[in-house]
Parts: sequence; structure tokens; C-alpha cells
Amino acid sequence: MSAAIQFENTYATDLAGLYVPWQGKEWPDPQVLLLNTALARSLGLDADFLQGREGAKLLTGAALPDTSRPIAQAYAGHQFGGFSPQLGDGRAILLGEIVDPEGQRHDLHLKGSGRTPFSRGGDGRAVLGPVLREYLISEAMHALGVPTTRALAACTTGDRVLRQNGLEPGAVLARTASSHLRVGTFQFFAARGEQDKLRLLLDYAIARHDPDLTGAPDAALRFLKRVGARQAQLVAQWMGLGFIHGVMNTDNMTISGETIDYGPCAFMDSYDPKTVFSSIDHQGRYAYDNQPAILLWNLARLAEALLPMIHPDEDRAIAQASEVIDATRTRYREAWLEVFAKKLGLCLPVAGLIDAMHAVWAQQNVDFTLFFRALPEALQGHDAAVKVLFSAPDEKLDAWLSAYRAEFTAQDGDLAPMAAANPIYIPRNHLVEEALTAASESGDMAPFLTLLERLQNPFTPVDGAEIYANPAPADAPRIVTFCGT
Ligand code: AMP
Ligand code: MG
Repeated sequence: MSAAIQFENTYATDLAGLYVPWQGKEWPDPQVLLLNTALARSLGLDADFLQGREGAKLLTGAALPDTSRPIAQAYAGHQFGGFSPQLGDGRAILLGEIVDPEGQRHDLHLKGSGRTPFSRGGDGRAVLGPVLREYLISEAMHALGVPTTRALAACTTGDRVLRQNGLEPGAVLARTASSHLRVGTFQFFAARGEQDKLRLLLDYAIARHDPDLTGAPDAALRFLKRVGARQAQLVAQWMGLGFIHGVMNTDNMTISGETIDYGPCAFMDSYDPKTVFSSIDHQGRYAYDNQPAILLWNLARLAEALLPMIHPDEDRAIAQASEVIDATRTRYREAWLEVFAKKLGLCLPVAGLIDAMHAVWAQQNVDFTLFFRALPEALQGHDAAVKVLFSAPDEKLDAWLSAYRAEFTAQDGDLAPMAAANPIYIPRNHLVEEALTAASESGDMAPFLTLLERLQNPFTPVDGAEIYANPAPADAPRIVTFCGT
């Protein structure tokens, strides 16, 4: 077996008892369908090797280099508010870590690699459509400057897997992450009262993500604050793009501040703060405008798990953790204002103007992405480019546009950073669905590859590519998304 990937295994070595050693399944005909060659190179990996037969075996978990110690990680999680004490990698394994030429450590993880002790009733499998969906949207997020796990490869297994709509091609996603530590990882050991393991986990997480806190007397509290700050920044960026994660369960909230698990996520076309795409989110728990509240709710769950390490006196620990959560709320608001100020080409985040902009959008069916691309024309006095996006442009809009022009002039605003903050191409749901259907039903990858190319360059206008920039036709069917497919 080639040692084309030199794995390190700090998680497996340092955290005995926090995982189960586990192998991937052998597949009838593993093939690399898509390799992220740019990512492979940046990790210092041999793209030619990965694309070949042995590479396909490695990227589907069937044959691993001697340096890999594959494991299934244990975690728990609050799913839609209800606690599940044992989730864990039910269809995934961690192959190990890769240290890139810059010295950065990345997990390499396979999703769809077969059943594990954490599979519960699941089949341990993934199918092509959702694997390509994660590939596409995580690449789009990366290109948009949002912290995220990355797709290294999408492989087919040669098997067929039974899903709601019949048999579908089996697939495995190989993805990287700066770690797979989640809020739910801490909850797993907290729920079992395993304080020693929790301590080990905290030390490990700090060494990996916040090494400057190592040995600090108030490390647990400061770690909580760091996680809150990273998540506040992340969710603010999501909000600035109209991104709806769709399943912000605590097992899907990372310690690193990277977006993870692209199941039912989607980008909003026209602005409606109550937008939900997920088929199971009946209460709107994970709706667009509820994401900041959920971030704080999830952070409170992390705080609960850390309490004994924050302070031996529980009341004091709770008081200190509450302060961190309040500070994160403030931090989020600041990050959110900064994100929108940037989108308006402003340096100073003018809260009144930004809040008023959201009010002006209400009930107007305005396309969230196109609105910002139309603003430069309005700045030059051509309001029509903006007004045409509104179903009933009114005097509130006129007043906002005048206030915006005045503020832009007063701040000596700049159009160039604005263009770099407002994408032309986002993963519009109708285009994503079209591309995935062609790939998984007819084996036609062409629409997917063209869309991927647009999304990897979201700020660069391409002549003749208008259909990638425009919303779905008005009569297009409403898109619904699904978890765990
Ligand atoms: P997700 O919705 O992908 O975040 O997954 C939530 C939990 O369900 C995790 O513990 C997954 O490992 C598990 N899971 C999702 N799909 C499957 C499957 N097909 N087989 C086994 N476990 C699964
Ligand atoms: Mg998950």
C-alpha cells in the first residue's frame, strides 16, 4: 500500500476512550468521480495518486496507508431541542490528520464509509446526490470566504443504495476540517458524567484550536468565549449571504467555527426572515432569522458541559458562563453590522441604516443577492436597478436609498470592496437541483461542473452566464431539502 498520505493520529493517540477504532467497508467498484485537485495540492498530497485505483480505495476507506488509525468518533447532541446522548459517526470514519506544508493540521474524514457502532438504525451509507451537494455548497462557501469543512473528493462505490425514491448510486465524500470537534463531542462525556475524559477533551481542543490558552487558570471560560466569537463571526457571514444551515443541532456546531454538514442547507432567493427549506423543520427552529438565537442556545449547551471546569462552585460557574453568552450576543451583533456595512461599501457600521434596510425588504419579495449587486447603480442615481427588484417599491425604499447615498458620500464609501463582498453567483436552489438530478439520474456531470466553476469564482462576472446569476422563474416549484440522505 502506498504511503501517499502520511497521517498523524493525535485524536486517536491522545483521546483513548473517546472513539471506537473502525474500518471502512470494502466496495465493489470504488471510483473517484471528482477530486479537488487544488485542495489536494494545498494539503501537499499527490493528486495523480489519489485519482487512480489505489487513491479510490483510500478515499472510500477500503484500503488505508499504515499510518492511518481509522476511528469512529463518539458524540451526542441536541437535535431540534431534544437531547440524544449517543449520536456519533454513524456513517463516517476519521482516517487521521494531515499536516499541510504550512504546518496546519486537517482531519481527513469519510462520510458514507459503512455502518459503525454508532449507526443505530441507519445503513451507514451515503448516496451520490447529497455527496455532490455537500461538495458543491462547501466549495461555494469556501470561495465566498466562509469558514467551512472542504470536500477533497466525491467517489462512487459501485453499489446501489435504497432511498425514498428507489435505488441510488452509493457514494463516499472525503472531506477535510480543521477538526471534527463539536459541541456534541463535549456533551457526550458531560452527559455520562465522565469528568476525566471531558478534561482530556478540553485540553485537546485547546491545544488544537486555542494553543495560547494552554495552562491558563481560566482556560475553560476563555475557550468558551473563543468558540462563541468564532461562531458569532460564522453565523454573521451566513446571514450576509442569505445562507440557511437548516440543521443547527449541537452535533453540527463545530468548535473551530467552520460550517459543517451540508444536509438540508440552502441559500434564500427572495428575502423572507422566516425562510426554512428543511422538510422536517416544521416550527421554523432553524429559519434564517433564528440562526443567531440558536447559536447562543448551542453555546449555552457547550457552557453546561464545561461548567465543572469553569469553576468548582456551580453558581459562580453559571454566572461566568452567562456573561460569556451575553458577550457573544453583543459580539454577534457587531459582526453582523460589520458584514452588512461591508456589503454596503461602508467602513462604519451604521446600525440605523442597516436595520432600516431589513425593514424596507419586508414583504417585497426582493432577491437578497441581486439587491446588493444593484446598489452601485443606485449610488450613481439610477434607482430603477434596485426598484425593479421590489414587488411594490414605495416611499420607504426611496427614503432608504437617499439615506444610503448620503451615508456613502459622507463616509467616502468604496465600490471595489463592495463588489468583493457581494457575490454574483450563489448556489441557487433550482440550479443545484438541476445539476444533482443530471448527475445522479443520468450520470451527466456537465451541469454540475459548470455550476461548480461559477461558484468557485462567485465574484467574477462571466459573459452569457446570466442564468447562473438570476433567481428561479416565478413558477418554479418550491424547493424542500432533506437531512441525513
Ligand atoms: P446528520 O443529520 O448528517 O448530522 O446526522 C445525524 C446523526 O445521524 C449522525 O450521528 C450521523 O452519523 C447519523 N446518520 C445519518 N445518516 C446515517 C446513515 N445513513 N446511517 C447511519 N447513521 C446515519
Ligand atoms: Mg451531523
